[in-house]
Amino acid sequence: MVSVAALLVGAAGTYHGGVTADSISPVRKRVLLAKPRGYCAGVDRAVQTVEEALKLYGAPVYVRKQIVHNKHVVTTLEAAGAIFVEENEEVPEGSTVVFSAHGVAPEVHEQARERRLKAIDATCPLVTKVHHEAKRFAADDYDILLIGHEGHEEVIGTAGEAPAHIQLVDGPDDVDNVVVRDPAKVVWLSQTTLSVDETMETVARLKTKLPLLQSPPSDDICYATSNRQHVIKEIAPECDVVIVVGSTNSSNSVRLVEVALGAGARAGHLVDFASEIQDEWLEGATTVGVSSGASVPEDLVMEVLAHLADRGFGEVTEFTTAEERLTFSLPQELRRDMKAAAAARAAAAAVVA
Ligand code: SF4
Repeated sequence: MVSVAALLVGAAGTYHGGVTADSISPVRKRVLLAKPRGYCAGVDRAVQTVEEALKLYGAPVYVRKQIVHNKHVVTTLEAAGAIFVEENEEVPEGSTVVFSAHGVAPEVHEQARERRLKAIDATCPLVTKVHHEAKRFAADDYDILLIGHEGHEEVIGTAGEAPAHIQLVDGPDDVDNVVVRDPAKVVWLSQTTLSVDETMETVARLKTKLPLLQSPPSDDICYATSNRQHVIKEIAPECDVVIVVGSTNSSNSVRLVEVALGAGARAGHLVDFASEIQDEWLEGATTVGVSSGASVPEDLVMEVLAHLADRGFGEVTEFTTAEERLTFSLPQELRRDMKAAAAARAAAAAVVA
């Protein structure tokens, strides 16, 4: 694997802060590499959950839906023994099933109990936080306006917490369709991976229509989504083309391309793999921006940088607008079983000794 350090040799190195005309020398064929990029804490935890479950229980381990929205991650885990299914019904009774990082509705837990499945919930804690908010406001009989994309797994899971109280608002143009029971008792919540700017536009329109609309107790769009959008906005105006590594069903990856274009990138493309980059995208370009969605392993970004280096874009400058140190512990049910297995191994070793 090519390291960032290796790719930065001969380049301006890592730059902390905004991009200004003075901060970037007018070089030919360069790459501006966004940081933060790639794996977030929730994705890291979800992928580790499947890996540890495979080690602990052995293959196969069933995973309901893609554990995270990334083709490479899914095929790698499949090769290790994970079986991805769409619904619990496809999981043999009594088997182990992992729920994805995007979260599930309570009825999915109920179905798992009915099928006697050993369920491990890899829902990102920041998605769980939104579920808790939905339950709390529903218990207080609020109308909840959930800003998000129709059909996205996270939205389905969150809406399932309080279907009678939640209505989806899919972008600013959907505000006209909102109808509430009591304009004084309404709150908005959101999917965690939306465009920050578009969400604020939706909220502004909602507030025009519903002046007493309440905001969530804390930001629902997560730190990883916000940070990746912030840095791509910084570099986009300098870029002839921005390449975002990520899958088409990854909401935060798709948003990164949109944000880059909105911030001034002349062109933007989403690729799963370096091999998808078309040479004509680079024709006449001198500056290429590179980032990756929150479900993308760093290896794939390194392959993109190597691909670009082969085409003359060997000078890489990494722009950093935030440092991320957040980590989440593995799901409680998995940790409990790992601890029990470790204790059993220690007891067996003591008997042998
Ligand atoms: S993108 Fe945000 S909400 Fe989604 S898994 Fe990562 S940290 Fe959690």
